[in-house]
Amino acid sequence: MSEPSVFTRILGGEIPSEIVAETENVFAIRDIAPQAPVHLLVIPKQNDYRNVVELAAGDPALLAEMIGLANSLAAEHADGDFRLVFNTGPHAGQTVFHVHAHVLAGGLGEESVGA
Ligand code: 5GP
Repeated sequence: MSEPSVFTRILGGEIPSEIVAETENVFAIRDIAPQAPVHLLVIPKQNDYRNVVELAAGDPALLAEMIGLANSLAAEHADGDFRLVFNTGPHAGQTVFHVHAHVLAGGLGEESVGA
């Protein structure tokens, strides 16, 4: 068995982080190192997929649930507009291999903000 991911440890209460929203299969937290005025992470509760490509192939309904929660969070925490980023692979900046979406929002305007 591999080590539990940092997100699994947060969900289990082992690492402190407020869970700002959850659905049946997905939860959301604030990113510890925000790259935008609103920077949330939307994460499946089960760590079954390493990245969004595996998730889309294996459980598209779960991907849709993540996107639905991202949409609700952008309306609740900003003006409803948002950028959704899935870093995929270490050379793209992925550091946690438990699939997660970065929800970036809050006056991004013309600037280029990545996660
Ligand atoms: P990745 O680089 O894999 O796309 O995204 C991982 C994200 O998780 C990073 O933006 C990083 O700041 C965030 N992160 C890593 N450890 C923690 C933590 O312990 N708490 C929270 N809230 N975010 C974390």
